[in-house]
Amino acid sequence: MFPPLETKKKIVILGCGFAGLELVKELKKILKDSVEITVVDKSGYFTYNPGLFDFFSGKIKEKDVVLKYEELFKGLNIEFIQDKVINVKTRMKTVNLENSVLKYDFLVVALGSQVKYNHLPRVDNKLFLFDSFNSVKKLSTHINSLMESLKNVKKIETQNKKLTFVVVGGGLTGIELVFDLREKLYKLCRKNGIKKKNLDITLIQEGKILEQLEERVGIKVHDYLEKLNIHVIVGQRVTRVDEHRIYIGDGRAFATDTIIWCGGVMPTKAIFRSDLTTKVDGGIIVNNYLQSVTNPNVYALGDNVHFEHEKKKLSKTYLHAIDKAKYVALNLVNEITGDGEKHGFIPKEDKFWFKLGSWNGIYFKNDFYFDGFFISLGKSLKDKDKYRMIKFRDEFKKLKKNLR
Ligand SMILES: Cc1cc2nc3c(=O)[nH]c(=O)nc-3n(C[C@H](O)[C@H](O)[C@H](O)COP(=O)(O)OP(=O)(O)OC[C@H]3O[C@@H](n4cnc5c(N)ncnc54)[C@H](O)[C@@H]3O)c2cc1C
Repeated sequence: MFPPLETKKKIVILGCGFAGLELVKELKKILKDSVEITVVDKSGYFTYNPGLFDFFSGKIKEKDVVLKYEELFKGLNIEFIQDKVINVKTRMKTVNLENSVLKYDFLVVALGSQVKYNHLPRVDNKLFLFDSFNSVKKLSTHINSLMESLKNVKKIETQNKKLTFVVVGGGLTGIELVFDLREKLYKLCRKNGIKKKNLDITLIQEGKILEQLEERVGIKVHDYLEKLNIHVIVGQRVTRVDEHRIYIGDGRAFATDTIIWCGGVMPTKAIFRSDLTTKVDGGIIVNNYLQSVTNPNVYALGDNVHFEHEKKKLSKTYLHAIDKAKYVALNLVNEITGDGEKHGFIPKEDKFWFKLGSWNGIYFKNDFYFDGFFISLGKSLKDKDKYRMIKFRDEFKKLKKNLR
């Protein structure tokens, strides 16, 4: 049994995605009720992001991609506050939320990332994001009703009108999405009596396709996109979007019905408004123990961290986020109780597994890659299995049982 502390320390965890949720679980497992844990998230539920593609395609349901915090934390003596973090003032050891102010002894920042689209105007009903459960739901509703509204409308065929869809961003999210989008649209064409030739799907990428992976993978995917009649524009930045068109760097403009913005991510704005030490990309600079280099009682993990390993910036994946949480839990326990020792974070090797629609996929690790139908099938089964969702749900159930 862990001895109760005379004065309970208060740990505040900002953000309850992959990193925050794993940390809550690990801390509760080790420290039980000997510390006060407060969790803040602007959302009321955890989202299993990798499952959003299958949710968009209609292959899995809402319950397979979201988990309510209320359900997870029930009976665990965790204070959950659903509110938006505005900033952190480390000098005063406070966190400013939209509706209140919090004090902490130890702070953990796990606010993830947000889509980089600052330079774009808001064009409602045309520009969509693919970064959260709500944004995917909004996009699905838009596409379904757009295609439904054209049901049996002969005009688009007689006038040879094209239904245009543009995906901006040829990174992992944009690529996985564009193939799913094509399949979804083909299905809706069949359902609504629209000819496939009336569709025009374009992918615009500022640099090269999948430039975070090896060039040969990018080339392979580029060829496959073209083989499936997806137009690819590379080396062009989107400069402007208005009610009718999307404009790119070389001066061209395209009429479009729907733009899906997958143009990269950056740490959440709350980090920029805080007095934490960050890199130019906004990532919080941490030492090997994942402690802020300027504020030792502040830890940071997940996507909002700037961490270099062997001179390479760590990629933003949920596996790294979960791993970091395990290290932060042990380091916090050591800090608060003197128990154990501090552990320097050593990231595991990157691996990328993604689908190119239902019939193709890529698995990339250590300069090797495999592609083909079985890679796509395997990824689908893994996501369908709601791998991490089931794991989280079961682990929290087990935790409750052990704490009883
Ligand atoms: C569509 C999509 C598919 C993906 N597929 C994969 C994949 O297949 N494999 C993989 O490894 N990674 C994938 N990722 C990336 C992966 O989801 C992230 O790397 C991972 O979520 C990072 O974990 P995190 O805890 O840092 O951030 P998140 O999981 O994003 O959690 C951050 C939390 O902070 C909350 N938050 C943010 N700002 C505020 C604020 N101001 N106030 C209060 N709360 C706030 C959010 O609501 C969220 O709950 C995907 C991401 C997306 C968007």
